[in-house]
Amino acid sequence: MQLKVIAFDADDTLWVNEPYFRETENRFFELFQDYLPQHTVARELLKTEIDNLTLYGYGIKGFILSMIETALRISEKTIPLEVIERILQEGKDLLQKPVEIIDGVEDVLNALKGNYRLVMATKGDLLDQERKLKKSKLEHYFHHIEIMSDKREDDYRKLIKHLDIKPEEFLMIGNSLKSDALPVLNIGGHAIHVPYHITWAHETIETTIENKNFRQAEKIRDVLKLL
Ligand SMILES: [Mg+2]
Repeated sequence: MQLKVIAFDADDTLWVNEPYFRETENRFFELFQDYLPQHTVARELLKTEIDNLTLYGYGIKGFILSMIETALRISEKTIPLEVIERILQEGKDLLQKPVEIIDGVEDVLNALKGNYRLVMATKGDLLDQERKLKKSKLEHYFHHIEIMSDKREDDYRKLIKHLDIKPEEFLMIGNSLKSDALPVLNIGGHAIHVPYHITWAHETIETTIENKNFRQAEKIRDVLKLL
């Protein structure tokens, strides 16, 4: 590999994210436990979230609005205003969660920082990701921060162009095969998948990747052995 830039996904690659969403979702499901089975509420919420992605993008604010929309729909607009208030509060709590760095991340960043330009490339709400980056105290490792509205091939092409490198000089490391690996491999870059134990249903794909530029790691520390 003739790498110049190593980019890291943030949520569930550098720091814990999905478990916080799950906790909030579970409290959302509890609001309806007397009326609807949890899997029905879960299915409706996921559907609303996916339908709204093109309008709201990824992140907590869109998630809050999707919870409210789902609550209105499944209750046929009979939900008390106190429940809406509760959902809004859940969202605000989610925005103020502590930032928990995943074990091994700092060791990897320390080992790589002198040899490569390091980039953080993440989706999500701009303000929220800036807040998490600041709280994480990881900002100084990165040459460039890219908070993207999506992670499709074109989004990566733009990033690579901005970094003034060739696709084959770019490696993306992340927990989502769909967002962090496939689009990068498709445009000629390298990718290492480091799974996280929980993945949002919308980020899961059923496929095996066969590409010479693809590597699978078990933990973030294993990345160092693959370079
Ligand atoms: Mg992620």
